[in-house]
Amino acid sequence: MSLLVVGTVAFDAIETPFGKTDKIIGGAATYISLAASYFTGNINLVSVVGDDFPAATIKDLNRHGINTDGLQVKKGQKSFFWSGRYHNDMNTRDTLDTQLNVLLDFDPVIPEAYQSCEMLMLGNLMPQIQKKVIERLHNRPKLIVMDTMNFWMDTQMASLMETLAMVDVLTINDAEARQLSGEYSLVKAAQKIIGMGPQMLIIKKGEHGALLFNKDQVFFAPALPLEDVFDPTGAGDTFAGGFIGHLARTRDISFDNMKRAIIFGSAMASFCVEKFGTERIIGLNQEEVDDRVQEFVDLVQFDITLV
Ligand code: AMP
Repeated sequence: MSLLVVGTVAFDAIETPFGKTDKIIGGAATYISLAASYFTGNINLVSVVGDDFPAATIKDLNRHGINTDGLQVKKGQKSFFWSGRYHNDMNTRDTLDTQLNVLLDFDPVIPEAYQSCEMLMLGNLMPQIQKKVIERLHNRPKLIVMDTMNFWMDTQMASLMETLAMVDVLTINDAEARQLSGEYSLVKAAQKIIGMGPQMLIIKKGEHGALLFNKDQVFFAPALPLEDVFDPTGAGDTFAGGFIGHLARTRDISFDNMKRAIIFGSAMASFCVEKFGTERIIGLNQEEVDDRVQEFVDLVQFDITLV
């Protein structure tokens, strides 16, 4: 089973109540593919960076089994840059700066070897580029998952709606679900968004877990209560990477298997927030991942006998 991941590979500058970073490695596709690499091989990345992007980071991705033949490196151009500051609750943040740079004229090229991909993860990116990727695949993948954010709702709602109509699963956070649907109730928001195209919706609620909806069912997974949360950046993408990584490994896209995928995604996201940037999700070992998943199982397991 091969997985195609598209999204930003970027520099971020982050401020949280616990500290501040200069330019560090970030980007939605970086987090997604790193997280997915703990579950499946054959991960193919399509993105673009400038020649300011460190070759050592591309090697780190390769060491995780991620194929970067589809990562364009543009000479004389700068990589995408995003900067954000988290509020004291660590669940909400302000974007301080978004510099599209190399993304402005990004034309995604899908290498021939990627064409047979069975699953497509469209990480956060301009919606018209996400759409172009779908159109440039000779065969529609078995599953298309899309992530997006308020920035694109504010600036490119019309093309976001076009892309949304072409995907199977959308992942967004609760504020974005409310913005997209105009509904406060997440149940009503989910039904409206499902009416826009995707059959499934995942609403991420940060430290309050995640909800999975289809037309008739709903599933909830908590987030692991953690002692230390340093930086939530990339948690949503890391979640998406664990989610699709599990689906790619098992080749099963039933609602029941998506419930399990949400637990794997949540486990990966719980690592991500423990350190700044990608630091914690590079070089984990299988035992650490398995132990973290077991903590989730233990967290929510209980016996009830109804009298
Ligand atoms: P998350 O915290 O999961 O929402 O993802 C944060 C990552 O998304 C950062 O590493 C950023 O580089 C990237 N990012 C921020 N804004 C955008 C945007 N408008 N489009 C694509 N990627 C973005």
